[in-house]
Amino acid sequence: MATNAPVIDIREVTRTYGEGPPALTDVSLTVHTGEAVAVLGPSGSGKSTLLNLIAGLDRPSTGSVTVDGLRVDGLNESGSARYRRTRIGMVFQFFNLLDDLTVLDNVLLPAQLAGVSRAEARRRAAGLLEHLGIDRHAGTHPGRLSGGERQRVAVARALMNRPALLLADEPTGALDSASGEDVRKLLTGLNTEGQTLVLVTHDLRLAESCATRTVELVDGRIVRDTHRATAVAR
Ligand code: ADP
Ligand code: MG
Repeated sequence: MATNAPVIDIREVTRTYGEGPPALTDVSLTVHTGEAVAVLGPSGSGKSTLLNLIAGLDRPSTGSVTVDGLRVDGLNESGSARYRRTRIGMVFQFFNLLDDLTVLDNVLLPAQLAGVSRAEARRRAAGLLEHLGIDRHAGTHPGRLSGGERQRVAVARALMNRPALLLADEPTGALDSASGEDVRKLLTGLNTEGQTLVLVTHDLRLAESCATRTVELVDGRIVRDTHRATAVAR
């Protein structure tokens, strides 16, 4: 794939649920490699709907969603699951880690599901745990860690299959201020290393420190799209 092809290419997407007003109306958005996009907007403005469409967890009523060259809106269930396993990583407000597994096994899981060899998966996991500063917790269960540490584990897991795109929905939303700062620095650092990010957040400090671009939604429409040469508070 050409290096200048966008990571995300959303064209004229509308998403309607039942009789209500559309959750998204005529949304077009192009995101290129290396961008860190913060999606902002009031509650109910369509942020999660947009993220779910990018993740292939939902389909547009009209329009198209292409990610990493793949028409995500045309995938069947298994294709969509494979897409999420191999091309994107997802981070959630409440971590979504498996407390019955150790930190290491949580991080290994996506690689195992994708059929990566055990040796290669262990190599990648060891590298990520060290890079994210959680290698000493490899044998611990996530329930024993702080919120910030758990989110680091979730980010390590999301990066295991080297996704073209890392998606995060309120990644600092459940963290105290010190842990929030920790995760802000982590995400900013990953983007500085080249990781493409799309994050939905109410955390203006996260948007300011991490994002190279902010997209604002109101009532399901993009009302503002602001680019920065470099994020301010890096
Ligand atoms: P945000 O994440 O910005 O708070 P959402 O994308 O969750 O907003 O929701 C946008 C609108 O779509 C809201 O009015 C919400 O009630 C509606 N909506 C979202 N998901 C569904 C669904 N599965 N069924 C019906 N309505 C939905
Ligand atoms: Mg939401």
